[in-house]
Amino acid sequence: MKKYIISLDQGTTSSRAIVFDKNQKIIGLAQHELPQIYPEEGWVEHDPMEIYATQYGVMAEALTKNNISIDEIAAIGITNQRETTILWDKATGKPIYNAIVWQCRRTAEICEQLKKDGWENYIKKATGLLIDAYFSATKVKWILDKVEGARERAKRGEILFGTVDTWLMWKLSQGKIHATDYSNASRTMMFNINTLKWDKKILEALDIPEQMLPEVHPSSYVYGNADILNNAVPIAAVAGDQQASLFGQGCFEKGQAKNTYGTGCFLMMNTGDKPCRSKNSLLTSIAASTQENCVQYVLEGSIFSGGSVVQWLKDELHFFETSAESEKYACQVSDSGGVYVVPAFTGMGAPYWDMYARGCIMGITRGTKNAHIIRAALESIAFQTHDLVECMQKDTKIQLTALNVDGGASGNNFLMQFQSDILQIPVQRPEMKEITSLGIAQLAGLAIGMFKNLEEIRAVQRNITVLNPAMPEETRKKLLHGWEKAVSRSRDWVEH
Ligand code: ADP
Repeated sequence: MKKYIISLDQGTTSSRAIVFDKNQKIIGLAQHELPQIYPEEGWVEHDPMEIYATQYGVMAEALTKNNISIDEIAAIGITNQRETTILWDKATGKPIYNAIVWQCRRTAEICEQLKKDGWENYIKKATGLLIDAYFSATKVKWILDKVEGARERAKRGEILFGTVDTWLMWKLSQGKIHATDYSNASRTMMFNINTLKWDKKILEALDIPEQMLPEVHPSSYVYGNADILNNAVPIAAVAGDQQASLFGQGCFEKGQAKNTYGTGCFLMMNTGDKPCRSKNSLLTSIAASTQENCVQYVLEGSIFSGGSVVQWLKDELHFFETSAESEKYACQVSDSGGVYVVPAFTGMGAPYWDMYARGCIMGITRGTKNAHIIRAALESIAFQTHDLVECMQKDTKIQLTALNVDGGASGNNFLMQFQSDILQIPVQRPEMKEITSLGIAQLAGLAIGMFKNLEEIRAVQRNITVLNPAMPEETRKKLLHGWEKAVSRSRDWVEH
């Protein structure tokens, strides 16, 4: 009987596979690390064959380890690291270059040129994005420029482009499916989020042949069959990881938001059926969708250094041995003793956008203990989230009534309570840790009729921890004032 859904979660540092049953419960899980390739300072690549091999491997492992036969799998859902770019030969199935990972800065110059040529406004309007090396478009151009004959071959339809979802689908279907979903397409800087079509003007500007681009469909959609050991299994959902997580958090309505506390933090709000244009450098993208030619939009902001400030205290300053211990230390003191940590390790993102800012620890006195610094470092994650939430509220004119949270550092109760105190709204943390995989499984279940509608998905009882604001307003104001002051001291530090 076909009773399970398997989620493939292809992330930047690992490939994971999780099996869910009809009650949206986890039945099996397997994970494998994905090696990172750093050919030059600021460049990041993955081997596309390794992406596929690790992903296939964990899928097989999640099944065999739990005695699940492939016959029992009703559908596959794919969620993935977004923007990462792969070009391959349609005939041989071999990549023509390594995957250029979203973090890779190698196309910064192409971006500068686009700005000089006056593309900023157009690209922002058409794609919802700011011109940046982060997105796929300039990575595609870079490979087409670099690999001899690639552009000509792409024009003849011999070379295909895909983000990681597209690549996995193409491999799993033995080359039968060349497609992506709206949410992934909206992060390529080639997709027009207003018309829901590839943007011909941008393609022309970058000399990218449209023939190489995948078809675009809703996230919840039967794309075709994966061929797994001669078994045909429908691939029934595709979505970018942050959008899958927004869906998994149940943020189906305009005004609902989630923040994922990982190495960095990703704040995303569902803004309904019209794109919201940010005046604060936030990005407009497309949410996970369930219908053809009909989407909801999101506003997204990211924090470069989130959980990584905790990692830094652990690995570089040796303040503790596991990230979780940070909570114990933070609770040893009643406040941060006037200390502020600004983790501007690589500059500050929205709303500051200062690439020349660098980290600082302010307000140290002779009495400062490491517990104060640890507490201040955790608080910095909440302060940065607060600043982003403020931007989002201004842009959308929607006041958040609660924040849904997930990701590694959301397990820190001190941090989550402080977050609620600083935002003055409840913070809601589901017990289920695999929200991204859950989201894609739900989308796949909807596509094949395992779940009838959103109500049925919502009806499943979930354990959620709610942390309510408890801090006096005066204390909150004082803390935010201190944070603002500390940020101002960190700015414009690097000589330029
Ligand atoms: P990613 O998906 O970005 O690798 P995870 O969601 O696995 O991230 O979260 C890992 C990050 O969260 C690390 O930077 C780690 O230091 C931090 N982290 C994990 N657990 C805790 C905790 N209990 N308290 C504070 N930070 C934590």
